[in-house]
Amino acid sequence: MRIASREVNEWIDGFLFVANKPILDLLNTKPVLENGPTELLPDVRALERWLIASGMVASRTAKDTVRGWRQAPEAATFLGQLIAFRERLREAVVRMENGSSPTDAFLAEVTSLLLQYPRRTSLHKRDGKVIQETLFEPRQPADLWAPIIDATADLLAGAQSSRIRKCESCVLHFFDTSKKGSRRWCSMNICGNKLKVAAYQRRKRGDHATTK
Ligand SMILES: [Zn+2]
Repeated sequence: MRIASREVNEWIDGFLFVANKPILDLLNTKPVLENGPTELLPDVRALERWLIASGMVASRTAKDTVRGWRQAPEAATFLGQLIAFRERLREAVVRMENGSSPTDAFLAEVTSLLLQYPRRTSLHKRDGKVIQETLFEPRQPADLWAPIIDATADLLAGAQSSRIRKCESCVLHFFDTSKKGSRRWCSMNICGNKLKVAAYQRRKRGDHATTK
């Protein structure tokens, strides 16, 4: 099923956020729109907007730094690597959705990136409580691996991997946070309602046989 409407609130700044996890929504940056499969990260400017919309780049300083890379060849290189990584991550996620696990090669690749771009944190007090906060101060485009690879590791090693799912009727992936764990669609607005309407129209026509 194709995604027809851009009017629904799952779109932020031209990107889909339906997955409950930004790293899964990275996979959703290549949805099937009216004109077929569409690359939503065609250039560095789009990447910058996605990083901010997804919350991967959140602090004012980090946003300013990333905005300064629009013309940087290193940023274009990073984008190319990220797109290739996105497709390998998609393969790993599809394997998990099918009850299997990611390949050893992919885990080795993620491990290598985790070692190169380790999570840096700080401790400080807020309202008398000690909290641990991730530090992300990118100095060069390759540093953008830090939040990407951190989220990837959380996704692959996280509990409830059975809740990572692909929409039953389109290419989008999501993490099911519903109480029952019975979510089937990327979103009610995009696929759910269309399927319900289609089922209703089939019932109205009386051709129950084809729905069973
Ligand atoms: Zn869908």
